[in-house]
Amino acid sequence: MQVRITVSFPYEAPVSQSLFERASAVTPGGVNSPVRAFRAVGGTPRFMVSGAGPYLTDADGREYVDLVCSWGPMILGHSHPEVIAAVQDAVSRGTSFGTPGAGEVELAEEIVARIEPVEQVRLVSSGTEATMSAIRLARGFTGRPKVVKFAGCYHGHVDALLAAAGSGVATFGLPDTPGVTGAQAGDTIVLPYNDLEAVRTAFAAHPGEIACVITEASPGNMGVVPPLPGFNQGLKDICSDNGALYISDEVMTGFRVSKSGWYGIDGVRPDLMTFGKVMGGGFPAAAFGGRADVMAHLAPAGPVYQAGTLSGNPIATAAGVAQLRLLDDAAYEKVEAVSAELRALVTEALAKEGVAHRLQVAGNMFSVFFTGADVTNYDEAKAQESFRFTAFFHSMLAQGVYLPPSAFESWFVSTAHDTQAVERIAAALPAAARAAAEATE
Ligand code: PLP
Repeated sequence: MQVRITVSFPYEAPVSQSLFERASAVTPGGVNSPVRAFRAVGGTPRFMVSGAGPYLTDADGREYVDLVCSWGPMILGHSHPEVIAAVQDAVSRGTSFGTPGAGEVELAEEIVARIEPVEQVRLVSSGTEATMSAIRLARGFTGRPKVVKFAGCYHGHVDALLAAAGSGVATFGLPDTPGVTGAQAGDTIVLPYNDLEAVRTAFAAHPGEIACVITEASPGNMGVVPPLPGFNQGLKDICSDNGALYISDEVMTGFRVSKSGWYGIDGVRPDLMTFGKVMGGGFPAAAFGGRADVMAHLAPAGPVYQAGTLSGNPIATAAGVAQLRLLDDAAYEKVEAVSAELRALVTEALAKEGVAHRLQVAGNMFSVFFTGADVTNYDEAKAQESFRFTAFFHSMLAQGVYLPPSAFESWFVSTAHDTQAVERIAAALPAAARAAAEATE
C-alpha cells in the first residue's frame, strides 16, 4: 500500500529504523500486528524498550507520553509496582502447569462479581479467541448458522467476523481479507452500525436462521462511535423476540470505561459478553461469559468444544487479578478526570486553528474525527479528512506524545497520567493543531 507522507520529519529514530529493517527481513511488514506498522501515517514505527507510568521510552532513548496504553490494557500506566510484584511472585512459582490453578478461579470470581449478567466465564488468551468462541457457542446453543455484525466493528481476526471490520481493517481500507472463504463468511450478515431498522429487516429476511448479533458494546475500532440512545437495548429486544443471542463485545470497553465496563453505563443485559485487554494486566488473558444456561453448553459441561493450552496462564491471571483489584471507584474517577481534561485541551487547540473536527467520547475513551459532522457509523467515519490526522500525529510524535498511528482508533489514558504528563500533551497540541490545519491531501 502506497502512503503519501504530507509532513516533514524533523526528528530521527536511527535505532528504531535499524530494528525495523531487521524486523522487516524476518517478519511480514516488520510487525506482529498490522496497526503497529505506521503504514496509515507513514514513517518508522517506534520500537519501545520500557514503560513507566504514563511514559514509554523508545530504542533511541526518546520518551513519549503514551496515549495508546497498549491499545487499552494499561489502565494503571506502565510497570505499576503492585502488578509487577504480583507477576514476580507468580513467575517465581513457575510459568505454566496445564492444570487448573487458584489464579484462574480468582480472576473468574473478579469478573463475575463485577459484571452481573456474567454468571459463568471461560478464560482464553486473546480477544479474538473470546469472540470466536462466543459465536461458536451461540451457534451451538441455538442450532442456527447466521451471525449479524456491524460494519466498522472489530472483533479480532476471526474469519467469520472480518467482513467490514474496523481497526487495522479500517486503517488499511481492506475490502475483504484473502484467505477467508465464502463458506467462512457466508453466514455473516454485515449491517450499518446504529441502524435498528436494518437489524429488523435482516431478522425478517432470515427467520429462524440468526444465532446471534455481536456488537462492540460501544465501538472504538472505527474511532469512537458510541451507540445512539436505545440502540443496544433495541438489539437486545430484537434478539429476545427472535430467539437469538445478544453478544456484547467488551474486549475494549470492559473494566475500562467503568468498573463493570459499558454494561455499567448502559445497563443493557447481554446473553454473552467478551473481555480482554484490561483484565489481563498487560498479559495475554481474555474471557467470554454470560448466562449460565448458555455457558453450560461448553465442553466439558456440554457439547460445544473450546480449549487452550495456555488458557488461564498463572502469570496472566496474577497480573489480571492484581490490576482488577486496584481498579476501584477512585481509579475510574481519576481516569475520567484525565480524559476530560485532555478532551477539552484537544478541542480547544483544534478550534483555535479552525480545524473542523468532532471529538467523540465513550466513558473515558475518546478519539478525534477530522470532519464537520457527527459520526454515527463506519461510512461517516471513513468520510473524515484522515490526512489531517497524519499531520497531527507526526507533530505530536515529534514533540514526544505517542498517539495511535491511525485515525480509526480510540485514544487511551490511565490513572498514571498526572499533571506533568498532561502539561506535556498541552504544550504539544498547538503546533499539532496548526499542522492539521495546514495539511493538504
Ligand atoms: N474485540 C474488540 C472490541 C477489540 O477491540 C479487539 C482488539 O482490539 C478484539 C476483539 C480482539 O482482541 P485481541 O487483539 O486480543 O485478539
